[in-house]
Amino acid sequence: MNDCIFCKIVKGEIPSQKVYEDEEMLIFKDIAPIAKIHLLCIPKEHFAYLSELNDGRRALLGRMIEKIASLQAELGLKDGYRLVVNQGDSAGQTVKHLHIHILGGETLPWG
Ligand code: 5GP
Ligand code: ZN
Repeated sequence: MNDCIFCKIVKGEIPSQKVYEDEEMLIFKDIAPIAKIHLLCIPKEHFAYLSELNDGRRALLGRMIEKIASLQAELGLKDGYRLVVNQGDSAGQTVKHLHIHILGGETLPWG
C-alpha cells in the first residue's frame, strides 16, 4: 500500500527507531509513547486488520507474539509488559496496518 505509513517504515522511506527486524516482522519505537517503553510490532506485509490474515498468514501473529516473548529481557520488559491490538475506528486504530502495541517499563494501569 503506497500511502501506508507503516509500509513506508518497512521500506525505509520514513525513519524509525528499529529494535528488531527479520524477514517477516519489524519492532520499532512508537513515535508518541504512552508508556515508559512503547514499541510496535508489525508484519512487513500489509494487512489492515486481523480479519485479513488468511489461512496462510494466521500463524504469523503467533510468531510475532512468540518473538516478543523471546525478546522480553532485551526489550527492557523483564518486569512485565502488555500487548494491545486496536481493531477499527471505535477501538482507536489510527494506522490501518496491523500492529501490536508493546507497553511496559513501569506498572501499567488497567482500564
Ligand atoms: P493505533 O492507534 O493505530 O493503534 O496506533 C498507531 C500508533 O502508531 C500510535 O501509537 C502512534 O503514535 C504510532 N505512529 C503513528 N505514526 C508513526 C510514525 O510515523 N512512526 C512511529 N514510530 N510511530 C507512529
Ligand atoms: Zn502498510
